[in-house]
Amino acid sequence: MNISYSSTRGDQKKLTPSEAILKGIADDGGLYMPDSIPKIETSLEELSKLSYRELATEILRPFVWDFTEEELRRCIDGAYDEKFDIKEIVRTKQAGGAYFLELFHGPTIAFKDMALSILPYFMVTASKKNRVDNDIVILTATSGDTGKAALEGFKDVEGIQVIVFYPKGGVSRVQELQMVTQTGDNTHVVAIHGNFDDAQTGVKNIFADPAYRQTLSDKGYQFSSANSINIGRLIPQIVYYFAGYFDMVRQGAAKLGDPIQICVPTGNFGNILAAYFAKEMGLPVSRFLCASNENKVLFDFLSSGEYDKNRELILTGSPSIDILISSNLERLIYLFADRDAEAITRYYTALRENGRFSVDSAVKERFQAQFRGVFATEEETAKAIKKVYDESRYLIDTHTAVAYHAFDTLRDTSDVPTLIASTASPYKFANKVASALEERYAGVEDLDLIEVIREYSGQDVPKTVQEVREGRITQDKECDVSDMQSTITDILTNLKQ
Ligand SMILES: *Cc1c(COP(=O)(O)O)cnc(C)c1O
Repeated sequence: MNISYSSTRGDQKKLTPSEAILKGIADDGGLYMPDSIPKIETSLEELSKLSYRELATEILRPFVWDFTEEELRRCIDGAYDEKFDIKEIVRTKQAGGAYFLELFHGPTIAFKDMALSILPYFMVTASKKNRVDNDIVILTATSGDTGKAALEGFKDVEGIQVIVFYPKGGVSRVQELQMVTQTGDNTHVVAIHGNFDDAQTGVKNIFADPAYRQTLSDKGYQFSSANSINIGRLIPQIVYYFAGYFDMVRQGAAKLGDPIQICVPTGNFGNILAAYFAKEMGLPVSRFLCASNENKVLFDFLSSGEYDKNRELILTGSPSIDILISSNLERLIYLFADRDAEAITRYYTALRENGRFSVDSAVKERFQAQFRGVFATEEETAKAIKKVYDESRYLIDTHTAVAYHAFDTLRDTSDVPTLIASTASPYKFANKVASALEERYAGVEDLDLIEVIREYSGQDVPKTVQEVREGRITQDKECDVSDMQSTITDILTNLKQ
């Protein structure tokens, strides 16, 4: 049986994979979910022998069954090529008593490349398949990494415009420079006077506004999303958990079939949800560690069953997880509530109106049976960077350090080997990483610490870092949160002239 996709909030329409990818988010504000998670039919033994691209083909096929074999292969070959700086695409390093799954070898040196290098191919294929005549406008809110990865992925793709909103002052200097030096005729970057949640909520509201959708449609445009609310973002992320597991087996950490524990620095809950999907497909996973920074909404939710966003967003040294509204959590609550769309609608109406909701105890117990939350303070994050370096001469970024802290905290509670999602290169957060090692770097700008990172990490300076050093600022738009819609209108109107 082919899977279909429908909204977590009860819209009964069943979409094909390509329709769900094109649409991004459902009209009722819900997220698309497959009606079942396919079990992998090939044995782990067989899968373990495959290259990254072959593995991706096996895992993605059932999720995008309306793509021909040839179309799927073109998507995968186009995505996972030389723009990654290692031929394995991802690799796993043992350090500090854990296994770090390096997901940052793509063009923007954060894990968002793993999905955003393939999403444009998905989108173009889906668009042809559904005979879409409109141009597609990819609307994206970013906490720092999605924006650049989407800009790079969609740059100069025919029939697509990309508009990225990022929180002014809420991203690292390298992240900001990566975006504002973006080239490409179809790329648009806007700094908003607000935080990431403002940007994300603004984008979701624009998606959910039927009148505005119609206005744009009259002008020949339709929206889609490059955020992890798009199912086409989520699915490619399943692949690397299998790849990481097989790396661990090859390194002798586990025998094929033995369980591992997966630990993920979490913001929008997309990456860790992909790990959960991997488990449902057949990857042996005993437990998921959900690591937060001081914005510990998810930690509190996993402890109490209450999701409460009524708190100030704290700007930390791990800005990509400075998030209070963790979108993809909705998908797992939906699964754990046995797909009770009415309950989800109730929860998310409460979230909109009061900023909080509590799940039923049965749902809470299902979370607690498989997920453990831990949060790291800024000090603990810095200590984690230093600890891994001192122990193993291995340099991790701040987000990965948040995850390492979670692993280290719960180390004694399990004998199972741990795979940590290493989500960004230390080059991206040079100031925070260098000052965790030596205090004297505390006040020094990211770009003045590149040499320091190079020495400590022993890794070449990535191409994107060289480019931001030399790049010209080409994007300088700013707007208030209340003006996001009119800013989009202006951008699209100016194009047509
Ligand atoms: C986006 C991001 C995360 C969080 O991933 P989610 O899927 O939003 O939970 C963690 N680390 C880095 C470096 C990121 O860019």
